[in-house]
Amino acid sequence: MTTQAGEARAGNAASRTPSPDPDTDPASAAAAATQLSATRGGEKQGLAERAALGLFILVPFTALLVAVPVAWGWGLGWTDVAITVAMYFLTCHGITVGYHRYFTHGAFKANRPMRLAMAVVGSLAVEGPLVRWVADHRKHHRFSDKDGDPHSPWRYGESVPALLKGLWWAHMGWMFDEEQTPQLTYAPDLVRDPAIRRISRLFWLWTLISLLLPPLIGGLVTLSWTGALSAFFWGSLVRVGLLHHVTWSINSICHAVGRRPFRSRDRSGNVWWLAVLSCGESWHNLHHADPTAARHGVLPGQIDSSARLIRWFELAGWVRDVRWPDAQRIAARRAA
Ligand SMILES: [Zn+2]
Ligand SMILES: [Zn+2]
Repeated sequence: MTTQAGEARAGNAASRTPSPDPDTDPASAAAAATQLSATRGGEKQGLAERAALGLFILVPFTALLVAVPVAWGWGLGWTDVAITVAMYFLTCHGITVGYHRYFTHGAFKANRPMRLAMAVVGSLAVEGPLVRWVADHRKHHRFSDKDGDPHSPWRYGESVPALLKGLWWAHMGWMFDEEQTPQLTYAPDLVRDPAIRRISRLFWLWTLISLLLPPLIGGLVTLSWTGALSAFFWGSLVRVGLLHHVTWSINSICHAVGRRPFRSRDRSGNVWWLAVLSCGESWHNLHHADPTAARHGVLPGQIDSSARLIRWFELAGWVRDVRWPDAQRIAARRAA
């Protein structure tokens, strides 16, 4: 009972605010869509958009593959390590604390500067404009592993070949689907906030800043062009590639394998070996059992750096009304 209420709350966050119904009022819906578009593309993905998406996936991924022999052969400087680790965890938490726990699920409330800062830092992860990300993810919770889920690994069935194909779909394939999640239906709360709309539309700028910041720092620290170039390789390309695949692993791996100590309507699992790299998001079974909880790693020893960060923000007074799961709430969601 409680599980379903939680899921419904997360999935239906969109429907709390009434939005124009395109069936009954096409003119107003069309007008609203142009006025309130939070991203540059429409609801159908065009060829150019798809090509750009492919490029943004392929280039960091290639860098990720090349990174291994480069680190092996020429060594890896401490400046690059520091820049890469800092940028990785900054942008990872931008996604987990900002895009996911705050904007998608409302696990806490934030003051205005904090809200805008989370929108920008999340955008630096190069995982797409804020409003699109949130709309896709709310739809994922609404239909998790059923018809309508944008990225379920069980889409093609239960056999091994079907699951392999499904894992590929859940990991990356789904992003190339022509059909886009309608943002006004799933994220009207964000579409109606002009500042958030602006930040979402400026996604190209955040991408540029995210890619140029590491070489700028690397160049200034080492006072050399080679320092800037290697910081670009590690801190921009390899970092973006790694975070992409870790984030997508939550959609693919964490819906196919993992322990399921909590009751949820889907196949979400807790995957311990992704906990540090995913900033606590791989405790995905608990997340689907209690989507609005600010902490996902609720059992002893489950590392959840995002929850730690939210606690610090709470102590600083920047966020409030945090939905911390208490013992009773956790116990109620335990699998029998
Ligand atoms: Zn999920
Ligand atoms: Zn979620």
